[in-house]
Amino acid sequence: MAIAARLRSRRAVLRLAGAGALGAAVALRAGVLRSPESGDGAATASTTTLSAATLATPTATPTPRPVPAAGRSTSALLPGTPWEASFDVTHSGLAGPTVLLLGGVHGNEPGGWLAADELRSWQPAIGSLIVVPRANALAIRTLERTLPELGDLNRLYPGNPDGLPMARMAAAITALATAHHVDLLIDMHESWAFYGERPQNGTAYLGQTITSGAGPASATIAEALAAAVNARLVVPRDRFFSRGPNAASSGNSANGQAQAPGGADVTATPGRSTSSLSLGRHVAALTPVLVEMGQDGQPLARRIELHMLVAHTVLQLHGMA
Ligand SMILES: [Zn+2]
Repeated sequence: MAIAARLRSRRAVLRLAGAGALGAAVALRAGVLRSPESGDGAATASTTTLSAATLATPTATPTPRPVPAAGRSTSALLPGTPWEASFDVTHSGLAGPTVLLLGGVHGNEPGGWLAADELRSWQPAIGSLIVVPRANALAIRTLERTLPELGDLNRLYPGNPDGLPMARMAAAITALATAHHVDLLIDMHESWAFYGERPQNGTAYLGQTITSGAGPASATIAEALAAAVNARLVVPRDRFFSRGPNAASSGNSANGQAQAPGGADVTATPGRSTSSLSLGRHVAALTPVLVEMGQDGQPLARRIELHMLVAHTVLQLHGMA
């Protein structure tokens, strides 16, 4: 089903509140989108006045990346292993950003992976959409965050092809994002308590938050996305808080793995993150975004809808929906 039609069918439930934040969209585009045609037109015009000797050693100019042909393909990460995770790549056939939607990093956060199951069939208007709906299939099967023998995918970036299963998966995701020149990664998680209702600061209260990691759009994307999503919501408890750029995702990653207390998805030690928010350090031009949906008192069906609304808003902000 087309994105617009699907969202229309859910509008009554979502109680959307009219138009999105167009201003934020414009600002966001400037921050995220690549300029494939970054060649210098003035230099081209001036070449008619250059000598033959100069022309013999031309300066290399940037060339636009070829636009993939329109179509959808299904493949798998770690194919043939017990941890195999299928994914879909949908190219619009038109130039534009590439967005990667990642679900199922933690098996006890079903709102994310059940929403991602539906997102894999979405058709982007421009650019390309990649969806990995169930990154940790064995944890999903047992509804556990993860299993000790698998490792925690959100603590293992950029991954290790010879490591624990989820270290291998992290390496496969990093390679996938690199191969497809992903601009924006949306990592879809859930947290028990709501950030807006927290009695104190802490990693256990991240529900309804959007956090960005190091990357070209890091400074603006979380705030712009939260504002655009909130403009479509009328129930106060549904609304998202921008936690802005995550300090731990920038800087040097050479000091090993960070482990947040309580199994939270966002680490707090500057320069130590090995969560998905650190992926911008490993994949050129990628900005990661981590979405946390609150579970406490929020029905699963609603969490799925809100994850889909966030994803749709991401595409809208980039002219992809
Ligand atoms: Zn999680």
